[in-house]
Amino acid sequence: MVRETAAARAARALKVLDSLARTYPHAHCELEHGTPLELLIATILSAQCTDKRVNIVTRELFRVCRTAADFVALPQEQLEDIIRTTGFFRAKARNVKACCAALVERHRGEVPRTMDELTKLAGVGRKTANVVLGNAFGINVGVVVDTHVQRLSRRLGLTRATTPAKIESDLMKLIPRDQWAMFSHWLIWHGRRRCDARKPDCAHCELASLCPRVGVKLN
Ligand code: SF4
Repeated sequence: MVRETAAARAARALKVLDSLARTYPHAHCELEHGTPLELLIATILSAQCTDKRVNIVTRELFRVCRTAADFVALPQEQLEDIIRTTGFFRAKARNVKACCAALVERHRGEVPRTMDELTKLAGVGRKTANVVLGNAFGINVGVVVDTHVQRLSRRLGLTRATTPAKIESDLMKLIPRDQWAMFSHWLIWHGRRRCDARKPDCAHCELASLCPRVGVKLN
């Protein structure tokens, strides 16, 4: 196969973006939330867990806790009980409480709006910070790289990188900044609905004409 030039890849990336936008006009963050704090907590709980499961858990959790101070006041055991089914519940409960304590101490209980401040909070890495910044505040600082974005951006030939940090950096060069948050949603929606990890439905895929299917075994 002839190696694609950087310019050709950039042009193809924009076509992929266009096609995804047309395919998923209603794509959005599937973690239910009403405030930046709720999104932050839901995202911390979503590590190694499905959004569906997190939504079930947070419906109860957000009835009990509405503010960062509420999370600090909630006994650790009670928090663990509520979030148990999301997995790694002890570590997540510790992080949620430490994160909310820092919000109360350093940010008057509010969620900060910078990558630097967010990633200093317990349980918050660059991915979680990108989710919060992009979806709660409409600030595009980076691209959310979850398991779907990793898999799809490689299959689509938009990156050869294998680490989230390098994949994010490659995508940031290809995708216009004002589209970063939506691009993640679109890839995540496509990953869930069409480009499954084990059985990608290439035959019916809306991106088929734009996709080199890197690493996909043809049936
Ligand atoms: S053509 Fe196949 S590998 Fe490419 S995005 Fe579509 S389903 Fe995924």
